[in-house]
Amino acid sequence: MSGVGVYLVDHPAFYDRPGSPYADPDGRDWPDNHRHFALLGWAAAALAQGADPEWRPDILHAHDWHAGLATAYLSAAGAALPSVFTVHNLAYQGFFPAAAFADLALPPGFFSIDGVEFYGGLSFLKAGLFYADQLTTVSPTYAREIQTPAFGAGLDGLLRSRADALTGILNGVDPAIWSPENDTLLPHQYGLDDTEGGKAQAKKVLQRRLALDDMPGLPLFGAVTRLSPQKGFDLLLATFPEFIASGGRLALLGSGDADLETGFAAAAAAYPGRVGIVIGYDEALSHLIMAGADVILVPSRFEPCGLTQLYALRYGALPLVRRTGGLAVALYADRASWQRVMREAMSQDFSWGAAARQYQALYTGLATHRAAAAQQRRLA
Ligand code: ADP
Repeated sequence: MSGVGVYLVDHPAFYDRPGSPYADPDGRDWPDNHRHFALLGWAAAALAQGADPEWRPDILHAHDWHAGLATAYLSAAGAALPSVFTVHNLAYQGFFPAAAFADLALPPGFFSIDGVEFYGGLSFLKAGLFYADQLTTVSPTYAREIQTPAFGAGLDGLLRSRADALTGILNGVDPAIWSPENDTLLPHQYGLDDTEGGKAQAKKVLQRRLALDDMPGLPLFGAVTRLSPQKGFDLLLATFPEFIASGGRLALLGSGDADLETGFAAAAAAYPGRVGIVIGYDEALSHLIMAGADVILVPSRFEPCGLTQLYALRYGALPLVRRTGGLAVALYADRASWQRVMREAMSQDFSWGAAARQYQALYTGLATHRAAAAQQRRLA
């Protein structure tokens, strides 16, 4: 990433500790998360206002609740810098009790329905949605969905009121990392014309690694996922005997909720040769699953964008999403049709080009708008 500067917030009390940035080693949210992520937003807002004499941005662009307060701090300072806030997942809101507000060093008036207040507490996500000049989500469909009560997570009213500022820009995939033609994490690279070669090799290696039976003529199902209710894998567990009875085999890499981890470990023990599970986070194995699987399972209850199915398409693993049940096994039996669909999938372009142009247009629009506003102020 030559030419891209990165600033690190150095505060050991928040960052130099075991566990993840969000939770302690037992999976409990850190009790100081509101201060932790307020600091992130505060540092961004300070940079946006010229804290570094060497570099000053034209636009502040914050992502998800973790960075939501950056826009509030900017507004509190009366800064003219335009801001963009992107929602990757509205379900994660950064909600804290009202008492946390006192720690945020925001003007008292900001604890209001026209501000960060949300159902008696405060929401970092709402701050971003309220204070940013422009809002985006990671797909056009999701931008529409979150304006409805069913997907709005309590924020659909605010989102509808900001509909003019809200657009969806579909996430992209980095082809330098996710291309079966030059993926060094695979046993053999492959392209559109060589799916029987490299993809078949990956399947063999994957089957060996996860001790799965070789079952020619039946598709291998794969999944790389957070194990959370959003992702819908409890729906698969609930119908597991049918899945196995219809010839299903599963290679799953994931981590998350303890009951889902236990459920899939139990399934692996109950169906040796048919279910291979790795609990954890493993970048290399995630590539092997995309390459080795015929079908990638995406039973999500809702999906803002879903990178996993974009990777799957590139690797010729067809995404099977909720509500389309037994389709895959029947289609797989018809090799010619399967190959045709697979090649179609692999030739889709989900690289960042289109998204980059849309973000550029958004930024340019904001900067132009600011210049026009400044000129108007001078004339007034
Ligand atoms: P979400 O952001 O909701 O978790 P996405 O599919 O949009 O879902 O993005 C998740 C990303 O994380 C994908 O790139 C997926 O491959 C990756 N991922 C999820 N779980 C794992 C895991 N256990 N090991 C490796 N990569 C993972």
